[in-house]
Amino acid sequence: MTTLAILTAAGSGTRLGRDLPKALVDLAGFPLVLHAARRLAASGVVDALVVTCPPGLGPDVGELVANDPQVALPVRVVDGGSTRQASVAAGLGLADADVDVVLVHDAARPLAPPDLVRRVVAAVRHGRSAVVPGLPVVDTVKRVAPAPAARRQAQEPPVETGDPQVERVVDTPDRGQLRAVQTPQGFSREVLVRAHREGAERAAAEHLAATDDAGLVEALGLAVHVVAGDEAAMKITTERDLLVAGLWAEEEL
Ligand code: C5P
Repeated sequence: MTTLAILTAAGSGTRLGRDLPKALVDLAGFPLVLHAARRLAASGVVDALVVTCPPGLGPDVGELVANDPQVALPVRVVDGGSTRQASVAAGLGLADADVDVVLVHDAARPLAPPDLVRRVVAAVRHGRSAVVPGLPVVDTVKRVAPAPAARRQAQEPPVETGDPQVERVVDTPDRGQLRAVQTPQGFSREVLVRAHREGAERAAAEHLAATDDAGLVEALGLAVHVVAGDEAAMKITTERDLLVAGLWAEEEL
């Protein structure tokens, strides 16, 4: 029985404003995807890696990751799809028959520490079939009415706020019950395959696609459990995130 990690790296990363995919952007001397792969390998609980890559870049990314002495795991690559969900589904298609646990991890969270990886896998191996790392939310979070375009798509009437820049608050969830979730997320293979199969029609369109895999499991009505996340597993979206991650990377040394 083995654990496969699907490392998603096929995003374009347009919000970083670079002319190369986000997973290949440098952080403290190495591309984000390599940081993420090294920490997955260092956990000691991952047996193989599948990296989802921007179309055409698979061979380069594969060579980069597979030849890194700190990775030392079997590495395969697959072209990503048009959404993250489609990319994960493509990666899942490469799972060998003996894989019973699958982790899904974003290269956009390059510093997720080995301890966190172990925590997630341990919870799955103890019988939780879908596990996400999460952190308490410090901000008060408001839910707002969907934007006009989304409401039109859902054929709902517009919400009148009197000002296109202004959004109407729907409610304020109890902050104590909220968790900001991260990756890696861990699953029994059987549950993840079923979740992707049954949610497959959402994968083609960005506005329908799941932004995390646990969301697809929830849609099946199955339980998802949260283990403690880690601030170092922060997601890199903007240039400022990259600067902050650089500080985390320095702290690790
Ligand atoms: O775009 P965002 O940062 O939310 O993407 C999260 C992760 O999913 C990133 O690691 C990105 O490379 C990956 N992704 C993917 N295929 C896509 C879109 C995003 O593998 N089509």
